[in-house]
Amino acid sequence: MSQTVTHTSGKVLVVEDLTVSFDGFKAVDSLSLSVDRNELRVIIGPNGAGKTTLLDMICGKTKPTSGRVMFNDMDITRLTEHQIVRAGVGRKFQTPSVYEDLTVLENLEISLPRTHGVFQSLTFRRTPEVMDRIHAMAEKIYLIEAIHSRAGQLSHGQKQWLEIGMLLMQESSLLLLDEPVAGMSPREREQTGDLLSLIAAGKSVIVIEHDMDFVKRIAHKVTVLHQGKLLSEGSASEVQQDPRVIDVYLGH
Ligand code: ADP
Ligand code: MG
Repeated sequence: MSQTVTHTSGKVLVVEDLTVSFDGFKAVDSLSLSVDRNELRVIIGPNGAGKTTLLDMICGKTKPTSGRVMFNDMDITRLTEHQIVRAGVGRKFQTPSVYEDLTVLENLEISLPRTHGVFQSLTFRRTPEVMDRIHAMAEKIYLIEAIHSRAGQLSHGQKQWLEIGMLLMQESSLLLLDEPVAGMSPREREQTGDLLSLIAAGKSVIVIEHDMDFVKRIAHKVTVLHQGKLLSEGSASEVQQDPRVIDVYLGH
């Protein structure tokens, strides 16, 4: 990985003029945005606006047609998904993917960064430090009482929390979360809002979300996408009052 010198210091993420075209259809179209350290950014926009595709390009799942993605002043546009994870970008997809047959504890354990050689994944070292970290994480994600339950037995909301915990074990400095409160109860949404706010105290988080009450509660700043383009950006109340945003939401 080569370091590229730029003038983006202080920003954890800078997306520059990003475009991806699928058979001539621009799902994301000349999009530029930047995210600060310890910022919790929410991305909203009607279905098909390009939100998920944007996250796909940041995490390397989809390669842009043009433009670039800078992460901590490093150009990650052409890196593989694995390299981007190792650089410190964690991604959670819309449906939770946890190991159903493993316990909460084991799911968190296997998410620890594997930097100690090829046998790491077979020889977990349950040192007191490792166990303390896992228990602290289970507590943080509201699963301490379920720590020995199999993930398959958890509710949908609890699985979402477990997956967030698994991402946090990897110590990413940027988390990308695609609709993390979908299917959650109001109480679970509230707890997730608290969790995300806590997480953003130490890292940057980008959340795609529809529920405007939830957005207002957690967002430092909101970016509105429409037809692959940036429609509006500002505080939750600013974008809600933006006539262009009102137009797009009422028009659909
Ligand atoms: P959102 O997450 O905002 O609802 P998406 O990013 O999933 O929107 O999709 C944006 C648009 O791009 C949609 O019209 C979708 O059909 C299209 N799209 C996304 N991925 C592909 C792909 N791999 N091939 C073709 N079209 C795609
Ligand atoms: Mg989507």
